[in-house]
Amino acid sequence: MRQREAQARLGYNRRVKTAADEVTSRRDGGGWTRWLRWAWWLRPMARVRVSRGAAVCALGLVVAGCAPTGWAQNAQANDTQAAARRFVVVVDAAHGGADGGAALAGAGAAGAGNGTADGGMAAGTQEKDVTLQMSQALRALLVARGFAVVETRAGDVAMDGDARATVANRATAQACVVLHATEAGAGVHLFVSSLAPGQRAMLMPWKTAQAAWVAESLKLSSALNGALSAMGRDDGAGIPVTMGRTTLPGIDSMACPAVAVEVAPLRDGARRVVSDVTDREYETRVMQAVAAALLEWRGEAGEP
Ligand SMILES: [Zn+2]
Repeated sequence: MRQREAQARLGYNRRVKTAADEVTSRRDGGGWTRWLRWAWWLRPMARVRVSRGAAVCALGLVVAGCAPTGWAQNAQANDTQAAARRFVVVVDAAHGGADGGAALAGAGAAGAGNGTADGGMAAGTQEKDVTLQMSQALRALLVARGFAVVETRAGDVAMDGDARATVANRATAQACVVLHATEAGAGVHLFVSSLAPGQRAMLMPWKTAQAAWVAESLKLSSALNGALSAMGRDDGAGIPVTMGRTTLPGIDSMACPAVAVEVAPLRDGARRVVSDVTDREYETRVMQAVAAALLEWRGEAGEP
């Protein structure tokens, strides 16, 4: 009770302060102080606690896992905070909802691997379904190895890059893996943000938060490259890997070592598809390699 009184007083004081800020705001032409004022006035209406961190989020900064939409989603933070006490991996199945991603299964597949007889998905499969399937497979592999896994989506829902980064940043993850699938190219394409490396700080611009993790993301990408190249070597056909840097809206806002893993078909010397991206067995092999790389990553971090 006493605490509530103290909070009420704090709120009152804040409101007085805000009124004073209004003078400042008028003097400097409004801007961000107006944002803060609205955040405080809307607090009782939204019935969620607006922390100072969430107010900072309104300015488009990353602090302690907050996001531009911080105060609207604070209630969802508890589960990921619990997970943060362990080695956390965020698995982000790209696309979803109205955003189906690329049309897969058969496009450029030269007649191979696009049926269901081999356990693959039917022709006309959308990328969003394949990424979700891979996400679920990777989640199972990681949970079995003692990882705490946070999925950005567990079903067919639409999410923009900010929403995905919000999930990732609240999880305070030691690795973030974004999953894509394509019929173009061969093997697995690994992408790291093209942002120039930056310093890690308490407050970071939301749109370029990844800059402070780029060096670690490149190391994680190397670990993935090693595990994928080693995978399947017994039967003489390792998974070829292409590594690159690119602008990735979701990843660029993630405050964690983050790599986009784009799975393309396995092809033979004549560029014919040997295993399509809709082939469950192939997907599983790729996810096993990703899990192996994350085990190595956890070991390097000194975690059991
Ligand atoms: Zn994609």
